[in-house]
Amino acid sequence: MALKRNKIKYCTISGCSKKARSNSIGVCEMHYYRFRRNGRYDLIARKKKEFIVHSEGYILHLNPDHILSEKRGYIYQHREVAYSKYGDGPHNCELCNKNITWSTLHVDHIDNARTNNAPENLRLLCQRCNTHRKKRTIYQRNGRTIPIKIGGIIKSSVEWAENDGCQVSRGTIIRRLKSGMSPKEAVFKETRNHISWTKKHKDINRER
Ligand SMILES: [Zn+2]
Ligand SMILES: [Zn+2]
Repeated sequence: MALKRNKIKYCTISGCSKKARSNSIGVCEMHYYRFRRNGRYDLIARKKKEFIVHSEGYILHLNPDHILSEKRGYIYQHREVAYSKYGDGPHNCELCNKNITWSTLHVDHIDNARTNNAPENLRLLCQRCNTHRKKRTIYQRNGRTIPIKIGGIIKSSVEWAENDGCQVSRGTIIRRLKSGMSPKEAVFKETRNHISWTKKHKDINRER
């Protein structure tokens, strides 16, 4: 009797050589818990979800046939959408015109919302411009990020300050927005100095 009790039993599931959980339970720890979880001893192939949200907030889409999909069959949805929008390439960075390909380029969310993968919210940037852009702030109000949108185009305050026809700095644009000006006014309204200079200049011309 004592001999029988001490005899080590092994898991009765075929192919498994682990020790049984106990004498009365004929399966190993792993199979015991698997049965408790799944109600069966074999592994259930878990069905992959069509969309999952990455830990950084990006959306992944299950599309194993896509040229840009990763090993598990997922592709970043913003890359998938941008690929349909722009095609194979090679492309140029929208900010500095540098040559970029799908192995080097970054797909930028213009309004900074990582889940807004509408084609018009995506553009292609080189790594340098994208990293640089992340440091730029878009006008914030009540802790919310508000894109500065003029004529349907969204840019950061830094980018608007560099825009043709803008005579003010990024700081001025933000100060103006905070004072309640519309984005168009904040970016394109002439400075008081500029106006007085122009006026003075005209006056001088008139005096001549
Ligand atoms: Zn087992
Ligand atoms: Zn660039």
